Amino acid sequence: MTIAVTNIRVEDKLYQNRYVVDSGRPHIKVRPHQSPSVNLYALTSVCPAKCYELNDQGQVEITTDGCMECGTCRVLCEASGEIEWNYPKGGFGVLFKFG
Ligand code: SF4
Repeated sequence: MTIAVTNIRVEDKLYQNRYVVDSGRPHIKVRPHQSPSVNLYALTSVCPAKCYELNDQGQVEITTDGCMECGTCRVLCEASGEIEWNYPKGGFGVLFKFG
């Protein structure tokens, strides 16, 4: 019996998705801050689409273009007001090709 071994990377699976970007109107915003809280900082590693990054001043920034709308950042940081989270407007956002 032969077992097929596939080495599919997360990045390759994400590449299957398509995104319609609402240019200039991000659906998630990070509240201005001097230094990030533990939860806000955690978004730089837990966001599956790597939308969150630290800038040169050590502040967390977001680029929502590849957001999968999974809600992880919403659970971690919306209640504290550190981010403002909304779904993209109709016709914009992620288009899942396989599921
Ligand atoms: S909703 Fe998910 S994919 Fe989108 S920015 Fe938040 S953690 Fe990342």
